[in-house]
Amino acid sequence: MAKCRVCGGKAWVYLPWTNSWFCRKHFIEYFERKVWRTFTKYVPRKHRKILLAVSGGKDSVSLLYSLAPRLIDNGYEATILYIDLGIKGYSEYGREIVVKHTDKLGIDHIIYSLDREHGFTIDMVAEKVLKKILKKPICSICGIVKRYLYNYIAYRHGYDLIVTGHTLNDVYAYMLSDLGNGDIEDLVKLKPYIPERNSLVARAKPLMFNYEYENTLYVEARGIEYLKQTCPYKLVGKKHPLIDSYKKQLIELEKKHPGIGLMFLRNMVDKIFPNIIYDREDRLKKCSLCGMPSKTDPCSFCRLKQYMLKH
Ligand code: SF4
Ligand code: ZN
Ligand code: ZN
Repeated sequence: MAKCRVCGGKAWVYLPWTNSWFCRKHFIEYFERKVWRTFTKYVPRKHRKILLAVSGGKDSVSLLYSLAPRLIDNGYEATILYIDLGIKGYSEYGREIVVKHTDKLGIDHIIYSLDREHGFTIDMVAEKVLKKILKKPICSICGIVKRYLYNYIAYRHGYDLIVTGHTLNDVYAYMLSDLGNGDIEDLVKLKPYIPERNSLVARAKPLMFNYEYENTLYVEARGIEYLKQTCPYKLVGKKHPLIDSYKKQLIELEKKHPGIGLMFLRNMVDKIFPNIIYDREDRLKKCSLCGMPSKTDPCSFCRLKQYMLKH
């Protein structure tokens, strides 16, 4: 019988990259300690008012359960942000899950409706994309909306840090894609922590050293309910087939070389990034409509909003 490396009891899972077995209880401890270590190692202590972006999916509920209660126990102010994108058959379920979990844990939440606050939804955007009136893929536009709103809401409500649930698999794929494309501007955003500048609120990705598989195990170990529905635009709205290929490649690589993805990310973050000097803010203007920093004026979000309200 395989034994837990911590207590010697009956093992529940084997983690190839640690070459160890864990019982359920000690896997949960291992997971939560890892998330907390990433957070405390990379995020400066000055941040106290934290907004956690949660969609209700497996990765973000893992973030919610593993980090939010610990933040509160350690004197931080933590609020969960759910953005209702107005995707029928999807958004309402995500919202329900987020409300259920935050109520259960006694953590404050903000439910922010794109429709109520800005007068359009991703369903409306999708309709225009499918009719080829809007030329970008749905997921690219949805990505612009989410990124903008995280910052806009955090900034307006005085939060000093936005936390997202990007996993190792996500960041690994983005890193390879940015390296391949020579996109240094996006590459340097893939750090576990990006400090604030002007009205860009600081960001952290404390799950970026956790494989997606670890999140699957964590929700299973703790019996946490998460959003099982898939976004209806997931297949039609793909931003990058290349990102998917890198994700698939990582799964294959890990079979032969357990821990290769983790090693790659740790070395990028601790050895390579500190030697890259890049000042992203120099290129930013201020959007004349919303006042948020942007490469263009009006910003992409305001341009989209103007278009959606007119057409
Ligand atoms: Fe938005 Fe695409 Fe994700 Fe759906 S799959 S929530 S459209 S990014
Ligand atoms: Zn154990
Ligand atoms: Zn704007």
